[in-house]
Amino acid sequence: MKEDKPNQHLLNPQLMGQILTKVANTLPEELTCDECLQELDRFAEMKLLGQPAEEAMPLVAQHLAVCRDCREEFEALLRALRALQEEEDPSA
Ligand SMILES: [Zn+2]
Repeated sequence: MKEDKPNQHLLNPQLMGQILTKVANTLPEELTCDECLQELDRFAEMKLLGQPAEEAMPLVAQHLAVCRDCREEFEALLRALRALQEEEDPSA
């Protein structure tokens, strides 16, 4: 009798598909540092204007939350933009 093959279900493609889907769902879409830095000036500009940058660019916000390098870059950018804004509009 060869009906009992206990290992077969482990290779069940349907099960594999379910597992892969589960893994894909638990891994959020993530930016690389390069991709984050490309969006960073727009993100900082929105923050400066009081716009919901986190909602508009959740992936950037997410990356900044986990990546110290990019966060430091972002804070430096924000400071630079603020300084620029004050220069342009000293009466504000
Ligand atoms: Zn980064």
